[in-house]
Amino acid sequence: MSTLLLDALNQKADAFISLRRDIHRHPELAFDEHRTSALVAEKLQSWGYAVERGLGGTGLVGQLVRGDGQRRLGLRADMDALPIHEATGLPHASCHAGVMHACGHDGHTAMLLAAAQHLAQSGDFSGTLNLIFQPAEEGGGGALRMMDDGLFEKYPCDAVFAMHNMPGIPQGRLVLREGAAMASSDYVTVTLTGVGGHGAMPHRAADPVVAAASIVMALQTVVSRNIDPLQMAVVTVGALHAGKANNVIPQSATLELSVRALDREVRTRLEQRIKALIAAQAASFEVRAQIDWRPGYAVLVNTPDETAFAREVALELVGDERVTLQGPAVTGSEDFAFMLERVPGSYLFIGNGDGDSAGACMVHNPGYDFNDANLPIGAAYWALLAQRFLV
Ligand SMILES: [Zn+2]
Ligand SMILES: [Zn+2]
Repeated sequence: MSTLLLDALNQKADAFISLRRDIHRHPELAFDEHRTSALVAEKLQSWGYAVERGLGGTGLVGQLVRGDGQRRLGLRADMDALPIHEATGLPHASCHAGVMHACGHDGHTAMLLAAAQHLAQSGDFSGTLNLIFQPAEEGGGGALRMMDDGLFEKYPCDAVFAMHNMPGIPQGRLVLREGAAMASSDYVTVTLTGVGGHGAMPHRAADPVVAAASIVMALQTVVSRNIDPLQMAVVTVGALHAGKANNVIPQSATLELSVRALDREVRTRLEQRIKALIAAQAASFEVRAQIDWRPGYAVLVNTPDETAFAREVALELVGDERVTLQGPAVTGSEDFAFMLERVPGSYLFIGNGDGDSAGACMVHNPGYDFNDANLPIGAAYWALLAQRFLV
């Protein structure tokens, strides 16, 4: 079965590699994926899918119902590119200056389309197949926007799955993980307001620079003293802005933090401690602190049953030599986490290449490109998973 399926998708690979490269040449930023979503919609319609566009702006769903099966499956791909100027020099390099498919979402879209065509033309399944093409995975929360527009009310799913390529892992290797797999990511802006004054008369001022410096150091104790050493947490102060001249005590200072965790309780504890430390530190220096806490993506948690199922499909397709059953967690984040808060499911990685191969170049690097050798494997994986789920 799996060899036949891989053969079938290998035969169609050239067409989908051309399609992938066409999408790569025309990258579009978050919520601006008009050309890409029109292309996806047109393909899906031509294969008999019922298509609804405009979910979450440029997102869309293609639905195919077959037989009298009652189960409903969701498969998700992302479509957006990044504000990076491509430096691959490839013939299919981006024709939009400063915009690039540097995370392989062109490949994810093409893999799901190849599976869509196969399933429509020769898929042996009974039930409801929902193919979800989302905008704005790169920080824009496109998944959440589609859900706000009624994604799972209009297209209920018993399980959802998504796949991302990963450089540094051998090409075509499938990596799964049960439980927390990707981190939550919160953004924090701290504005410290003191009393500006002359650098020669610090006693007549309230110095936000000293308070900011002390806060940066105090924040280093949150992970080391307040979080279980066996848990993952990150508190990074990525920006600190204050002052312009050596003899002027500025009126204010700002800090920008990135806060990450792999556990919902750890995430809550980080927020409590960071807010308390900043407030207490600021008070001790007689400055005011305003904390703007913006929750980003949630912890991505793969549910046990669906991950076990996704592993079985991986083993059936490529064999245990090319499957990692429980890969490491990743400190990056992914908005598929929001879908997994609503619907059980699993998110897996497919190796983009390792060692000295071209596929080893990390995502978000201007030299990155999706490895086209993964197109038939990823498509066959989706097709097999759909046929095993919708029975
Ligand atoms: Zn990315
Ligand atoms: Zn990505």
